[in-house]
Formats: sequence, structure tokens, C-alpha cells
Amino acid sequence: MNLVLMGLPGAGKGTQAEKIVQKYGIPHISTGDMFRAAIKDETELGLKAKSFMDKGELVPDEVTIGIVRERLSKDDCGKGFLLDGFPRTVAQADALENILSDLNKKIDYVINIDVDQSILMERLTGRRICKDCGATYHLVFNPPAKDGVCDRCGGELYQRADDNEATVQNRLDVNIKQTKPLLDFYETKGYLRNIDGQQDINKVFSDLDALLGGLQ
Ligand SMILES: [Zn+2]
Repeated sequence: MNLVLMGLPGAGKGTQAEKIVQKYGIPHISTGDMFRAAIKDETELGLKAKSFMDKGELVPDEVTIGIVRERLSKDDCGKGFLLDGFPRTVAQADALENILSDLNKKIDYVINIDVDQSILMERLTGRRICKDCGATYHLVFNPPAKDGVCDRCGGELYQRADDNEATVQNRLDVNIKQTKPLLDFYETKGYLRNIDGQQDINKVFSDLDALLGGLQ
């Protein structure tokens, strides 16, 4: 079960990744975790990556790809893996094809959790925080009893600057622009499967489960 998981911010990728890993027992391989592990183990590539990160520079593709290659070669990937946050570009996707072909593996599915932009916007801008006690609310998922007022302490609720519409829209635009060529690449390869991420969390997973069950 060799999987790549994709989805825009707010699509619910993290939640579904957790459920897939729990049910199928394959490792969840996120770029951040991979870097952290390589740095902690002080592998040659880990140290190289660290030297760029320490300078606040982007880690070059050859280093990132090397770290992915090392990670996917480990024994726990024998049953499969769930890649998350890699690849980010078509060049990286090409490199991944090469790595997998060297390891005698191939991608089964690239799963894209698909959610309309308007709904992502609603999910990502809905957070409100209490000025006094720091309690968090969400206008859709966890609204306070009274508009703008903290249930716990009566404090005033505010929206963090990161959560405002313009910032979120910009974040979405950057992500969409980045992912589009990748989705096209995987569509052409025949790997891409779109899952409707606008449904209830459990229904999203049951759709995923139905797809993945076919691989076993
Ligand atoms: Zn409060």
C-alpha cells in the first residue's frame, strides 16, 4: 500500500492520515518528521539539511530527495507507506518515481482530499480566541454560546491575524498554484484518486477505506 496524500490546508489531511495509519499499520512519512529524524540520527544528509536550515535557507532538492530515499528504504516501509508533504513539485515527483523503481516499488494511489475553496475559507477563518483565558472556538465547529464572548470567562473573542481572510486566501492561492501541476502529473500517470473531503470526517474515511481495501 504505497500512498501519497494530498490536500489543501483545511482539507482534513492530518485527520485522515491518522486514521489510515491506525487501520492499515503503514508508516506516516511527513517531510517534517523525516528531516527531524535524519537530523537527530546525524546522518550525512541530515547534517547537510541542518546546515541549510540553520542559515534559514531552503534545503536543496538533492538533499531532500536523498532523505526520502533513505526513509523509503527502511524495513518498516515493506508493507507500504503514506507520504505526506512530499513531493511538492513535478521534479520531486519524477525523483520519487526513480527512487521507487530502484526499490522495486510503485505508487498505488495519490489520494487528493478535495474540498471547495469557499468551504476551506470557512474552516480556516472561523477560529476565535479569548483575549483573557486563551480558550479557542470555531464559528462553525465549536461556536461560543454568545457571539464574540468566551463561554468560560466572559472575555472578548478575537481572530488571529494569521486567520484573516486575506492571509488565508493568499495561503490557499500559493498552495493551489503549487499543487496543480502535481495533480496533473499524477492524473496523467493514472495514480490520482479524488476523495470528497466535504463530507463528515467518518464518511470521508469510509470512502478512503473502500478505495484502500481493494489493495489488500
Ligand atoms: Zn475566556
